[in-house]
Amino acid sequence: MEKIKMTTPLVEMDGDEMTRILWQMIKDELLLPFIDLKTEYYDLGLEHRNETDDQVTVDSANATLKYGVAVKCATITPNAARVEEYKLKEMWKSPNGTIRAILDGTVFRAPIQVKGIEPCVKNWKKPITLARHAYGDVYKSVEMKVPGKGKAELVFTDENGNESREVIHVFDGPGVIQGMHNTNRSIESFARCCFTYAVDTKQSIWFATKDTISKKYDHTFKDIFQEVYDKEYKDKFEKLGIEYFYTLIDDAVARVMKSPGGFIWACKNYDGDVMSDMVSSACGSLAMMTSVLVSPTGVYEYEAAHGTVQRHYYKHLKGEETSTNSVATIFAWTGALRKRGELDDIPELMKFADKLEKCTLAVIESGRMTKDLALITSLEDVTVLNSKDFILEIRKEMEK
Ligand code: NAP
Ligand code: MG
Repeated sequence: MEKIKMTTPLVEMDGDEMTRILWQMIKDELLLPFIDLKTEYYDLGLEHRNETDDQVTVDSANATLKYGVAVKCATITPNAARVEEYKLKEMWKSPNGTIRAILDGTVFRAPIQVKGIEPCVKNWKKPITLARHAYGDVYKSVEMKVPGKGKAELVFTDENGNESREVIHVFDGPGVIQGMHNTNRSIESFARCCFTYAVDTKQSIWFATKDTISKKYDHTFKDIFQEVYDKEYKDKFEKLGIEYFYTLIDDAVARVMKSPGGFIWACKNYDGDVMSDMVSSACGSLAMMTSVLVSPTGVYEYEAAHGTVQRHYYKHLKGEETSTNSVATIFAWTGALRKRGELDDIPELMKFADKLEKCTLAVIESGRMTKDLALITSLEDVTVLNSKDFILEIRKEMEK
């Protein structure tokens, strides 16, 4: 069989721990035998980030801007324990945070639905796609520990040196403060990414903040969304019979639980972080959630929504068998390959992506799956496979 040719390289961002092991297996067993894979490789493994003073992360994001499509493996976000474990020069920032800041995009996450794994929220009949604003707020905040008595203020100095001030709190003892920001430009592009994605996928969109409490910060999000919607999207939505619906975040949470699904839920950065884990867990497993970062200029970065699965990696290092689910990482590759095929007009590449997804789901639906799914499936006669064997079963399905 002749391998599928590619014209433009994919930006390949390798990562850490168990997902790095899966990454190589997926390439060796499911991609390289079928595709003349063209990638520009960036090693975002923590050791290499440390060696390059994290420059490699910035370079990989810039390469994504250049080529338009990237696929990323999960990476460690260092904390104090990781600084010790990897003898890091610094507690490097979250690679995802760095990449998101450079691409200024919105992250769309949707559960991968498969027969035999039903959401534990019974009324969710269709997937709920989460759109997470990927810039600013608490992810770009500065914080201080207040040692004792004193006054904390917000100060803005304009270009001409004029100051405006707002007292945050007069402390009579120790405490903490945090300053965060967002920009109208980023919020506008978030709104556009969401509305465009809604039109593309013909789904209604819900958006929620806490504008009753945060009368300037959150209210700005609400106003910008409404403005962009009225000016640029209202007609398109009405033609398609889809709607834009704004409500308070707590009301949204309550309504989502009672809904049948099948819409996009746009969330501010933190809400999206938290709610996507809720939606994915309710749909079975963190490993059954796709994630794509879409920039307002139409640049795409595909990844799995879960982390590096550290606990499994330590078992793997001890020589023990692991049963780690590779579905979301496989779907990151298929998403990226399909988009590359679309942009470069290579229909075989798009067909390959469809086929690999179908084969992956067919393996699960036939009762062959990893442990995380075996624990929750409604199927009987299930075979629990280890990490490698699951991928090999997909390979067999592909060869059929
Ligand atoms: P995690 O890697 O998502 O794993 C948490 C737990 O969820 C696992 O211990 C496992 O449960 C289950 N799980 C997640 N993915 C699975 C899969 N593919 N197959 C089977 N089970 C799966 O989160 P974490 O352990 O909190 O974080 C580990 C590292 O990942 C951290 O250093 C963090 O910084 C990083 N992280 C990276 C990203 C990213 O790059 N996008 C996102 C989140 C976290 P059991 O142990 O019960 O089997
Ligand atoms: Mg998270």
